[in-house]
Amino acid sequence: MATHEQFADDLALYALGSLPPAEATALERHLESCAACRRGLEELRGDASLLALSAAGPAPPARSRERLLAAIKKEQRGQRMVLHHSRPWWTITPVVASLVLALFAFLMWRENSNLKQENAEVQKKTEALSAKLAQQEHDSEKAREMLYMLTSPEVQKASLTTPKGGPQPGGKAMYKSDKGHLLFMASNLAPLPKSKTYELWLMPMSGAAPMPAGTFMPDQKGGAMVMNPPIPPGTEAKAFAVTVEDAPGSEKPTMPIVLMGAGQ
Ligand SMILES: [Zn+2]
Repeated sequence: MATHEQFADDLALYALGSLPPAEATALERHLESCAACRRGLEELRGDASLLALSAAGPAPPARSRERLLAAIKKEQRGQRMVLHHSRPWWTITPVVASLVLALFAFLMWRENSNLKQENAEVQKKTEALSAKLAQQEHDSEKAREMLYMLTSPEVQKASLTTPKGGPQPGGKAMYKSDKGHLLFMASNLAPLPKSKTYELWLMPMSGAAPMPAGTFMPDQKGGAMVMNPPIPPGTEAKAFAVTVEDAPGSEKPTMPIVLMGAGQ
């Protein structure tokens, strides 16, 4: 049946003498081996309304099956098609043809809107993925920078100890002045009440006032870290210091200095 179906419209066009030569040849080849289509063609040729259309009606639009079917439908309004007997499948009546076209259009529309929906979903997934990638990129950027601060010989390093000496608290500052990047790590810090905070200070080379370089609270083991406090790039550092300030931090250091160290 499938092979018949692909020739259904061709039969009508062929009966009207409007099938393009290449397709006509293919149909003729099919007709040689298919009695059903031969019968169909005979019936179509005998169909009074089709003959009338081909003889007296407007010339069927070449290569446009939809327009041909529309023309047949239009013709039918004027002169009623006489149905003598139940039609085989290949006599596509205009009503069926327009239903098929409508169904086809509907399927195309649905396909199209499904595609749009799929596109929207793909778009959403892509956005989520790129947000995740951006986060990972950010994290690994941070990790790279930390590694760089810890290992690069270009980074200025200062060891901070209590001015009195002794083994208690200590700190290390790694500082890249051209970028204003600072990584500070401290250990063995005494715990503080919640109303207080440790504050790191950068003593500028220029002799200007100490610059706040972040506040921090030690963890249970007395360890703490400050990474990239807001320091203007290009600020040369003479030394670093740590004081205890009232939370959430001060603009000027309050004596005494808990830790201090000069750069190497
Ligand atoms: Zn056939």
